[in-house]
Amino acid sequence: MNVIEIKDLVKKYDDTIAVDNINLSIEEGEIYGILGPNGAGKSTIISLICSLLHPSIGEIKILGEDIKKKSLKVKRHIGLVPQNLAVYKDFTAYENVKFFGELYGLRGKVLEDAIDEALEFTGLSDVRKKKAKEYSGGMLRRLNIACAIVHNPKILIMDEPTVGIDPQSRNNIMQAVKKLNKKGVTIIYTTHYMEEAESLCTKVAIIDKGKIIVEGTKEELKNIVSDKKILNIGVDDIYKVNIEKLRNIEGVIDISIDDNSVIITSSKDVNNLTKILKEISDESLKINDLGFKEITLETVFLSLTGKKLRN
Ligand code: ADP
Repeated sequence: MNVIEIKDLVKKYDDTIAVDNINLSIEEGEIYGILGPNGAGKSTIISLICSLLHPSIGEIKILGEDIKKKSLKVKRHIGLVPQNLAVYKDFTAYENVKFFGELYGLRGKVLEDAIDEALEFTGLSDVRKKKAKEYSGGMLRRLNIACAIVHNPKILIMDEPTVGIDPQSRNNIMQAVKKLNKKGVTIIYTTHYMEEAESLCTKVAIIDKGKIIVEGTKEELKNIVSDKKILNIGVDDIYKVNIEKLRNIEGVIDISIDDNSVIITSSKDVNNLTKILKEISDESLKINDLGFKEITLETVFLSLTGKKLRN
């Protein structure tokens, strides 16, 4: 069953088209990654799904219901972990989670059990009586998640939940996502860290400038570039590289620059390595690094857009 169906979705802010005609179906049980650089439109898509913004054009159905008509009914099934922390620093962890549980109409023993479970799940039971202002950044992120899951949602939407936190807390959050998914929760996870999408997501949509560039399982996405090779050449003076000449070499599809490296996407079956290296040495450049990039979601993005995900 599709838990989310998005049709011809457009969102404009004055002159900016933040979401540009997106179509998307998310099946029950997926950990669905929305991957894209800053400004790609990820947060806007999330806000539209959660009815925090209204589309300029298009339709969103959640659990089969049009959210324009049944916004309140479907909101009960969604948990949102927003990018900006939504916790009250002067409240304890317990009070924060209780506040959110009450918002969703939980009361009495059901509420208390739900708070216990959410705090236990995010590893905060022992510090439940501490005020949030005494928490570390990673603990605050976990509390943000506890608040979003207290009402036992069917769909959990996480907007860049690991930005700016230490590796241990990031790991902790990623484990929690996997555990929740095992319990049957469908997860939508936006990130610009491709390693997270690689390790977590069952399906990924890569977006750029408000459009979906490509969508599928990680294997499907990597197959798109299986007929290409991506060469990484580190040089001593990147400004001397004659990009136009390199671009004219047979088989070369795209060229980008990353610090002191030239990254060349080329057809796999054209044997052009000697020509490429000769062209670079003709410019009296010293090559100090040379290798093929492993095919990852980052290289898929790079080869489709000529850009790095992290800018
Ligand atoms: P992401 O979450 O991928 O970083 P956003 O959805 O925040 O991207 O932004 C998509 C585009 O919409 C960007 O160009 C951004 O500058 C623009 N944008 C986002 N929010 C607003 C707003 N409230 N008013 C005007 N432009 C906005």
